[in-house]
Amino acid sequence: MAVFHDEVEIEDFEFDEENGLYHYPCPCGDRFEITKEMLEMGEDVATCPSCSLIIRVIYDPEDFVLLETLSISSPQPLAEPV
Ligand SMILES: [Zn+2]
Repeated sequence: MAVFHDEVEIEDFEFDEENGLYHYPCPCGDRFEITKEMLEMGEDVATCPSCSLIIRVIYDPEDFVLLETLSISSPQPLAEPV
């Protein structure tokens, strides 16, 4: 159903630290956007707010998931002898 206009690696995106989103130039003159939160949730579709084009973001989900899970599910040293 979804037809990607292109596939772009995350390194080619520009990161907007202020808004927490990655963007990439769209042929229509606007730009594709995807937020860091969406990447962390496994979303890989960047959309352009001005046209109907979408692109697929190529990235390693572990790079983003790790940031979240490290603090939540860090292995607990439960087996520590008391
Ligand atoms: Zn566009």
